[in-house]
Amino acid sequence: MKQQDDYDAAVKWLYGLQYFGMKLGLDNTRTLLAELGNPHEELRAIHVAGTNGKGSVCAFLTNILMDAGLKVGTYTSPHLRDFGERICIDNIPMTRPEVLRAIKGIKPEVEKLASRGKQCTFFEATTCMAFQHFSRRKVDAAVVEVGMGGRLDSTNVLEPVLSIITNISLEHTQHLGDTMEKIAYEKAGIIKPGIPTVSAVTETEASEVVEAKAREMSSELYRVADGCDIRIHDIGLLNSSISAITKYNKYNNIKIKLGGEHQTGNAATSIVAAEILSRKTFPIKPENIARGLESTRWGARLQVVRLRPTVILDATHNPGGAETLSKFLRKHFSKKPPILVIAMLVDKDVGGVVKLLEPLVSQIIVTESKYERRMKAESLAEKISGETEIADSVAMAIDRALELAGTSETVLISGSIFTAADALEHLDELRMREAMEILSELHGTGAYPGRDPETPGPPPGSQEPFRVLISTILSQRTKDENTHLATEALFAVFDTPEKLAHARPEEVEELIRPAGFYRQKSRNIINTAKVLCERFDSLVPDNLETLVELPGVGRKTANCVLAYGFGTPAIAVDTHVHRISNLMGLVRTAHPDDTEECLSRIVPRELWLDVNRLLVRHGQTICAPVRPKCNKCPISHLCDRGIYG
Ligand code: SF4
Repeated sequence: MKQQDDYDAAVKWLYGLQYFGMKLGLDNTRTLLAELGNPHEELRAIHVAGTNGKGSVCAFLTNILMDAGLKVGTYTSPHLRDFGERICIDNIPMTRPEVLRAIKGIKPEVEKLASRGKQCTFFEATTCMAFQHFSRRKVDAAVVEVGMGGRLDSTNVLEPVLSIITNISLEHTQHLGDTMEKIAYEKAGIIKPGIPTVSAVTETEASEVVEAKAREMSSELYRVADGCDIRIHDIGLLNSSISAITKYNKYNNIKIKLGGEHQTGNAATSIVAAEILSRKTFPIKPENIARGLESTRWGARLQVVRLRPTVILDATHNPGGAETLSKFLRKHFSKKPPILVIAMLVDKDVGGVVKLLEPLVSQIIVTESKYERRMKAESLAEKISGETEIADSVAMAIDRALELAGTSETVLISGSIFTAADALEHLDELRMREAMEILSELHGTGAYPGRDPETPGPPPGSQEPFRVLISTILSQRTKDENTHLATEALFAVFDTPEKLAHARPEEVEELIRPAGFYRQKSRNIINTAKVLCERFDSLVPDNLETLVELPGVGRKTANCVLAYGFGTPAIAVDTHVHRISNLMGLVRTAHPDDTEECLSRIVPRELWLDVNRLLVRHGQTICAPVRPKCNKCPISHLCDRGIYG
C-alpha cells in the first residue's frame, strides 16, 4: 500500500510538470542529462520523426531488432493504459516500482534546475528517465520516437545511428509553422552529420526540404519509395499480406497484423531502415525482418479488441489519420457501416476529422474523454451534421454502442489516444467479465494447485489453508497433475503442521517425489510447518505480509492461500494466469508479480477469485502452455491471440 501511495504521489508530481506546457529547445534536457551522467551518449539509437506512422515504425523496428536477439528499449508517447508503456524494454513496459525509482532519481535534479530558474517540462523529464532506464538496463538498441516536430524536441539530444522521417502533413501548426515546408524543416532537424537518414516523405515541398537538409549534413538519404517495392496481396480486417523487394532481399508473403493499407507503407519504411542497420550497426538477417514485421502489434491503431460484436479501436485525431481510417472503412465496411463512438480534443481539427468519418458510419455516439483538453460532447455534436446521441463518458458511450450492435454489428471507437485509453479501460473490464461468465458456465467451481485438474474442486475459501499452502509450494515448477499426486500422497500421512514438522525429510521426499525438486521442496515444507508450529500456534496466517515471511512462500503462494484457503479476494497469479492475461492482451508483463499488480487494477475486485480459479482451470484444459487450443477456446473472441492468431 505504501509503495502504491508513493507511486501515485510520484506520478502526480511528474504529471504536474505538464502545467509548464510544451517547451521547444534542448537546453533543459542537456542540463538534466548531464546531471544524470549523460546516459544517452551510450545508446545506439534509432530516432523516428513524422506526422503519422511514427509509433508503428517504432513497433516494427523494435520487433525486428528483438527477433535478431537484441535487447531493445523503446520510447514512445503517449501511453494507453499506464505511464510505464512509454518506456519499454523488449516490449515490456516499465513496472510501477521501476517508474517510482526513475522519478525519485530525476526529481531532485528537476528541482535543482527549477531553483536556478529553468523549469523542466513533463516531456523533458520523461525523455531523461527513458534514456537513463535504457542505459541502466544496458539495452543493445534504443528506438526513440520524437515527441513533437524534431529539431527542438528534447529527444533530439541523441546522436543516433539512424534517423527516420515517416511522413509529413500539417499538424501542431501553432508550434511548428503553418506550411509543409516549415513543418518539414522542423522534422528534418533530426538529421545529423554523417548519420544515414530514411525518408518516407512523398509530398514534394516537404521532400525538397528533407533532401536539402540531408545534403547539408552529408547524411546518406534513403528514400523508401526508391528502396522498397511493396506488393500488396491482400488487405484484410485483421491483417495484410505483402511481399517486398529491395536492392538486397525479397520478402515473400509477410502477414502484417496492424490493420489498414497504410501499415504496408510503414512496413516498407521499417524494412529499408532495418536493412541499413543490418549493414552498418546490428546483426539483422532477412528472416529477422520478416518475423519481426509479422509479430508486431501496436495498440489503438485499427485494433480489433474483440469480436461478436467486433469492436475496433483507432486513435485517429487528425484529418490525415481520418483519411486513412476512411479508406479502411470504405474497404471493409461499405455494406455494413459501423456505429461510431467519438470523443476528441479541443485543439484538434475536429471538423476535418468528422467530415471524413460521418458519411461512412451508420450512427454516431458523441462523448468526451477524461482528459483535461477534451472537447465537450455537446460542442462536438454541433460539428456533426446528422443526428447523434450524446453520452456522458466513453464507457457509457461504449455500453450504448454495444447495446445497439448486438452480436453482429461493428463498433468503431475513435477521436484521440485519450478516447482510446478510456475505451480500453472499460473494454478490458467488460472482456474480463464476459470471459469469467463463459468460463464459469463451463467449469463451475475451479481447481486450485494440488487438486485433480480433471475434477472441479470445491469453491475457493472452503479449503484447508494448510493444505493449500503446502500444495502450492509443491506446485512450483511442476505440472498440475504431479502436484496433485504429491499432495495426495503427502496428506495421506502428514495432514497437520505438527506431523509435518516432525517428519523425516527422506520420508517426505519419497512421498512428494512426483512434484520434482523433491529434496528442496521437502526441506521447504518441513521448515514451513516448523515455523507455523513455533510462531503461529500451528495456524496459517491470513494476511499477505505475514505469509510471505514463511520459508519458500512468495506472493503467488501467499495469494493462493488467501484466495483458496481463506476466501479473501486476491489474484494469485500463477503461470497460467500470467500467461493467459498476456495472451489476451490485458497486460504486458515479464513476471507474475507484475501481472498481479496490473490485473488488480483492471479486474473488478469481485472477480479476483474467479480470475484465479477460472484462468488456472482454462490453462489446464484449453489454453495449454504448449500449443493452446485456440480453435476450441470459448473466449477466443475476447483474446488478442485468438483474434489475430
Ligand atoms: S484464444 Fe488461444 S491463447 Fe487465447 S485464451 Fe483461448 S486458447 Fe488461450
